[in-house]
Amino acid sequence: MPKTKLNPQFIKTMKETLETEKVKLETELSKFTKKNPNVDGDFEATYPEYGDKSDENAQEITQYLTNKPLEMQLEKMLRDVNKALKNMEDGSYGMCKYCDEPIEEKRLEARPTSGACVSCKKTLTQEV
Ligand SMILES: [Zn+2]
Repeated sequence: MPKTKLNPQFIKTMKETLETEKVKLETELSKFTKKNPNVDGDFEATYPEYGDKSDENAQEITQYLTNKPLEMQLEKMLRDVNKALKNMEDGSYGMCKYCDEPIEEKRLEARPTSGACVSCKKTLTQEV
C-alpha cells in the first residue's frame, strides 16, 4: 500500500470535511430511509404514509419514487466518504488509484472523495 505523501495538516482538514459530510449525509438519509440491519452501510427508502385516500396514496407513490434515486445517490456518496476515511487510516488517502501519485490538493478540496488525479481522470473520461 503506497504511503500518503500529502501534508498531514491537509489530511487533517480533509478528515474534518469528510466527517462533517458523513454526518450530513446520514442525517439526510435518516429523514426518509431506515438502515438495512442486514447490510452495513445500506439504507432502504421508507414508504411514506400520508393517508388512505386515493390522492394520498398517489402522493405516497410519487414521494417514494422521488426518494428512491435520492437514497441511492446519498448512499453512494456516503460509501465514498467512508472509503476515503478508511483510506486515511491506512495511509492511502489522496493517492491516485491509477498512477499512485498524490492527487492535487485543489482537486481534493473540491471533491474530498476523489480517488484519481486530474490527468488520470481526464484520460479515463476522454475530456482531453
Ligand atoms: Zn493518476
